[in-house]
Amino acid sequence: MSDDKSSSIVRIRLRLRGRVQGVGFRPFVYRTAQALNLRGWVQNDNQGALLEVQGERQHVDAFVSKVVSEAPSPAHVDTFNQESCPLVPETGFAIIASHGQGPISATILPEISTCADCLREVDDPSNRRYKYPFTNCTHCGPRFTIIQSLPYDRPNTSMSIFAMCVDCQREYEDPLDRRFHAQPNACPVCGPRLRLIDRNRQDIVAPAFAISRAAELIQQGLIVAAQGLGGFHLIVDATHQAAVRLLRQRKHRWEKPLAVMVQNIEQAREHIDFGPTEEALLTSPEGPIVLGRKRKQSSIASGVAPDTPFLGVMLATTPLHHLLLNHVNTPIVATSGNLSEEPICIDPREATIRLAEIADAWLVHDRPIERHMDDSVVHIVCGEPQLLRRARGYAPLPVFVSDSKQVVLALGGHQKNTIALGIGDRVFVSQHIGDLESLETKQALERVVFDFLRLYAVTPDIIAHDRHPDYASTQLAEHLTAQRGPLAGIPRVAVQHHHAHLAACLADANHSGTVLGVVWDGSGLGLDGTIWGGEFLLGDCTGFERVAAIKPYPLLGGEAAAREPRRAALALLWTTFGARVFYWEDLPPIADTPKAERALILKMLERKIGTPLTSSVGRLFDAVASLSGLVKRVSFEGRGGMLLESHCDESVVNPYPLRVIDAEPASESFPHNPRWWLDSASLIEAVASDVRNGVPHEVVATRFHAALIAVTVEIALRTDAKVVALTGGCFQNRRLTAGCVEALARQQIRVVVHNQVPANDGGLSLGQALVARAGLRPGKPQD
Ligand SMILES: [Zn+2]
Ligand SMILES: [Zn+2]
Repeated sequence: MSDDKSSSIVRIRLRLRGRVQGVGFRPFVYRTAQALNLRGWVQNDNQGALLEVQGERQHVDAFVSKVVSEAPSPAHVDTFNQESCPLVPETGFAIIASHGQGPISATILPEISTCADCLREVDDPSNRRYKYPFTNCTHCGPRFTIIQSLPYDRPNTSMSIFAMCVDCQREYEDPLDRRFHAQPNACPVCGPRLRLIDRNRQDIVAPAFAISRAAELIQQGLIVAAQGLGGFHLIVDATHQAAVRLLRQRKHRWEKPLAVMVQNIEQAREHIDFGPTEEALLTSPEGPIVLGRKRKQSSIASGVAPDTPFLGVMLATTPLHHLLLNHVNTPIVATSGNLSEEPICIDPREATIRLAEIADAWLVHDRPIERHMDDSVVHIVCGEPQLLRRARGYAPLPVFVSDSKQVVLALGGHQKNTIALGIGDRVFVSQHIGDLESLETKQALERVVFDFLRLYAVTPDIIAHDRHPDYASTQLAEHLTAQRGPLAGIPRVAVQHHHAHLAACLADANHSGTVLGVVWDGSGLGLDGTIWGGEFLLGDCTGFERVAAIKPYPLLGGEAAAREPRRAALALLWTTFGARVFYWEDLPPIADTPKAERALILKMLERKIGTPLTSSVGRLFDAVASLSGLVKRVSFEGRGGMLLESHCDESVVNPYPLRVIDAEPASESFPHNPRWWLDSASLIEAVASDVRNGVPHEVVATRFHAALIAVTVEIALRTDAKVVALTGGCFQNRRLTAGCVEALARQQIRVVVHNQVPANDGGLSLGQALVARAGLRPGKPQD
C-alpha cells in the first residue's frame, strides 16, 4: 500500500472475548491479516484477545467478519468490540507478548481431546513424536489442569519446567505451524516422560517399556494406576471378570457402575448401542463418558455395571491412553483413582501412598497436574446432551447470565459439590469436587475456592451457601467469613436448596421470567425445617411460592435412609396402612425386616424418634423400588431410581393414582404449607396391591413413572403455568424427564431442562450465585 492511497486506509482496535486463548486463535488472526495484506498486531490479555489492524477499508471489514465468525474450532468468539484509532507507521503484522494487567475475565479453556493430526503423528514411525504420550498442539491437549496463572502462556503453566528443544521452539515460534504458541508443546527430546513404578516408587522397567509392560500387567488381570490429565485412573481389563471383581474389592466400591474406556468409535460400537448424538459426543473435543445401552454380545464383564443395561463409555482422549489401549487391545475399566468417595489423586507420590492397597503398578509422568479433574459424564435426554458430572472438557467454562457489578462466590451443596464464581455477565462453575463426607474432599473444596479466587484475582462481594447448617460447604462459608477468617466481613446469603435448583435451571436454559419449577431430589432443608424434595415452586431467582409438594412422611433414620431404600418403604407403608402393615410378610420390605427390628421401627415411627418429616421424591423412588422387591437392604443413593427407570416398559400406560388434595391454608403455625399436597398414600396402596398380586416389576415401574408425569401436568394446569422447569437429581431419570416433556408439550406448555450444568446437586452453586445476586437477603422475603 502506498501513502497516496492513505485516504482509504483505516486502523481499528478489536477486543475479542470467548475461547480465544491457547486454541490457535492468534495464528488464525495472523494468517488472516497476512492474506489481506494488513498491518498491526494481536495479543492475549486478561480479558481475551486484543488486536489492531491497519489497511484498506474493505480489507479491514473482511478481516473483522472473518475473525469473529470463522475462527476454527475449538476457538470461538463470544463477543467483540470494535473502535477506530489513529494510523501508525508499521511494516507488518506481529503477534506480540501477552499483557497481564487489567481485570481478569478471560475464558480459561478446559482440556481438549487429542486431535486427529496429533494421533496420526503418534502412530507414524517416521514422525519425531512416534509413540510420544504427551503429543499435543494448539487444537488439543491439556489446558486448565496445567494453568498456574493467567494469561495462558508457557511460563504460567506447569510446562515451564521443561525447556523446549530447538525443533519444538521452532514450531512454537512459527505462526504458520500447528504448534505456534502451543503452550504444552513437547517432544521425546525435551518434554515430560513416563515411568512405570511400584509402590516404593522404583522403576519396574526401563521408561521406554513403561506402556507395553503396563499393558501386560493389565492383560494379566492386575490393576494399574495411570496418571492422566486431571488425576489418576485405576485401570483393569474390562473383559476380565476376576480383575473387575478385584478392583471392586480393593476400592470398596460394590455396586456403582464403573466407566469403560475404548480405543475408538469402532470399538465403542462393538459393545454399546450408540445413536448418532451419542457418537458425536464421544468423539467431541470434550470427550466425556457417555451412557449407552450395552449390546447383548458385548464381552465386557457383567461386574462392570451390574443390574443396569447401561454402560458409561469414553474414548481415549490423550495419546497416553491411546498408546496404552493399542497394547491392551480390549476395552479397559478406567475409574477415578481414589478410595470410594475421596477426591481423585493427582500427584505420583500421593498416588503410591493413597492407592498402595489398590494398585499393582503406577504409570506416572513428570508433568505436574495443577488441579484435579474427573471425567465428565453425559447422557442424552430428549435428543439433547445432559451432564451428570461436569469436569474434564467443560469446567471452568462460564454460564452466561445478565450482567452484574457484584462478584459472588457460591459454595454449592453437600453432595456432588461444585463451587461457582460470578463475575460480570458470566458464572464460572468449578469442576466436580465430590461428596463432602471425607476430610480429603472438604480440603479439596477449600483448595478449589482459593484456586478460583486467585486465578480470577477477585474478592467476592457476597458469599452464597445452602441453608443446611450441617453441610460442610455451609460451615466453610461460616469459617471463611468469621471474624478472623480469610474473607472476614463479607456478607453471606443462605439459599434454600430447591430454590437454588430452580435458579440453576433457569440460568442454564437462559430463561428469565416466572416459571413453575418441578424440583425433585433426595433431600434439601426446607424453609419450615422439614426435609424437602418433592416440590413445585412458582418463581424465579428472586423468590418463589411453594404451590405443591409430596405430603410429608417420616424419613425413618433421617438422611441415612438414602442408602437403605427399605426404610423409606417401611415409613410410607406405616403412613398408609398403620401398624398392621408390619404383619404383611408378602411385602418384600416387611419380609426383609426381622421381627424384633419391626417392633423397634414401629416404636420410632409412633413416638416420632429419629423420623424427621420429608416430602422427598427421591425417597419415594426408593420406597417403590424396595416395595416391589427390586432393591434389598443397603445400596448407594439413587440406585432405587436407577433400577425403576431401567425396568420401564413402553407398552404400559395407566398411572398409579397420586391424589392432589387441598393443604391446610398457610397460617402462622404452618407458614410454608403449599396450596396442595400430593397424597402418596393413594400411590403406595396401589403399588402394594400390585406387588401382592405378583404384577411384574416392569408394570410397577412404568405405572409409577406415569403417576409422577401425570401429577406434573395436573399441577401445571392448576397453576396455569406457561413454562415448566424440570430440575433436581430425580430429573437425571430420562424416562421421567422425557415423559414430562412430552406430556407438557401436549398441553402447549414450554419445558426448560438442564444442558450446561447437571440437574443434580452439581448445579446448585450456579443457582445459589444467581439467587444471591438477585438481591435476596437473609430474613427476606421468603423466610
Ligand atoms: Zn493436536
Ligand atoms: Zn522438543
